[in-house]
Amino acid sequence: MQQIAEGTCFVDVEYLGNEYYIACAVLEGADGIALIDPGPAVSLPGLERGLAHGGYNLDDVTDLLLTHIHLDHAGGTGTLVKRNPNIRVYVHERGARHMINPERLLASAKRIYGDQMDAMWGEFLPVPEENVEVLTGGEELSSGGRALAVAYTPGHASHHVSYFDATTGIAYVGDTAGIRIANEPVTLPVTPPPDIDLEAWEESLQKIEAWSPERLFVTHFGADDNVAGTLDQLRTRLMQWSLYVRRGMQSGSPPEECTKAFIKWVVEDLEQNLSPDKVPVYQVSSMPEMSWHGLARYWRKKEEKA
Ligand SMILES: [Zn+2]
Repeated sequence: MQQIAEGTCFVDVEYLGNEYYIACAVLEGADGIALIDPGPAVSLPGLERGLAHGGYNLDDVTDLLLTHIHLDHAGGTGTLVKRNPNIRVYVHERGARHMINPERLLASAKRIYGDQMDAMWGEFLPVPEENVEVLTGGEELSSGGRALAVAYTPGHASHHVSYFDATTGIAYVGDTAGIRIANEPVTLPVTPPPDIDLEAWEESLQKIEAWSPERLFVTHFGADDNVAGTLDQLRTRLMQWSLYVRRGMQSGSPPEECTKAFIKWVVEDLEQNLSPDKVPVYQVSSMPEMSWHGLARYWRKKEEKA
């Protein structure tokens, strides 16, 4: 566990044995701990190792606060609840039913990951309905010993929420502020299908800014003090990415060629701005191929509406 503020730590869950992929925030209350985005089942042993380091085990966990239900953030939730049935799971109303009945979520993930599903994520157990606390945004929660504000922050996912702890000034923003390994100079969006909505995303960024956070905690990866710089880069790259994808679609080139060119362009950007050891981490976390499809879907939906 690494401390980021008074009573606030995070665990690198060592996703598939690697550092810097998935960070789970830990709010240490007197009556138990709350975890923000526990990660997938496949890295729960890493999460438990990290917690044990801080003197905690799963019996100490009272709440799981999900930013959204993508497998890399929430896949291990049902397994944790099975092992400690007292855990409350907080999730946006549009994600809640998929945590209770994950069949559809898993079927669509299976289309993306195929036979790599189990190796990449592990099991995804349903969460009993009685453990689920449904959020819509605007709530004030008491969790992990503190007061947390909840905001509905769609854009990356239609069921994404962010949490703000005014005591520490930390906003827990999941993937809404993109990915940025703490202290590295690059912030990248991640834009997988099916929910990407750039207009909603911008509104969500403004909600986060309205909190005036001192730090952003992003799942991929860690706490970052340069709030304005991170959001500025995110906005710039989101715009550049979306225009690149639209130009590709308009060019009439086959999608496979467009995605190939996009991936190459993204990797060049990373290579110019990062040390070589960090390039693969960003590349895997930002999923450029999936991100191309997510933005292409955004543009198609927009055209259908027009
Ligand atoms: Zn993610």
